[in-house]
Amino acid sequence: MIRYADIVDSSVVDGLGIRVVAFLQGCSFRCEGCHNPQLQSLSGGIKIPENEFAEKLLNLITPVHKGITFTGGDPLIQADELNTVIKIIREQKPDLDIWVYTGFEFDEVKHLPVMRQIEVLVDGRFILGQKDLNLPFRGSANQKIIDVVQSLKAGKPVVMQIA
Ligand code: SF4
Repeated sequence: MIRYADIVDSSVVDGLGIRVVAFLQGCSFRCEGCHNPQLQSLSGGIKIPENEFAEKLLNLITPVHKGITFTGGDPLIQADELNTVIKIIREQKPDLDIWVYTGFEFDEVKHLPVMRQIEVLVDGRFILGQKDLNLPFRGSANQKIIDVVQSLKAGKPVVMQIA
């Protein structure tokens, strides 16, 4: 079972291109100025079997969608469940571009199986003192948009250059 709060059927602010966005429930970081404090509770949201959640997301994908973004909350506190969801999605739509937002740093989560399933990780906690509304796809300057495939090959975070 995976716990989620909401799904948005098309967004252009949560990654490159038009994307389905899944807001997973639960986060332990408690960042000051968190954009979604109602998603911090580990017991809130809706619990759903992974296969049903994957189908819900797949049903929203149209030819104009580039991919799916998992945000929250922190999707990686449900890393195993998320891995199952993405595996099911990949079986039907192997070419989808999948982004995951997390408060963890790349080095803390690079060993997780789900990291072999995704294209991009936006890592790091939100730091209010480094907030910058002009940054694409992230809230504070410490956060990095990481090319996961290249980073796993290199053994260190490889940052994507996005203007
Ligand atoms: S990591 Fe994200 S969801 Fe979690 S407390 Fe920080 S800003 Fe909120």
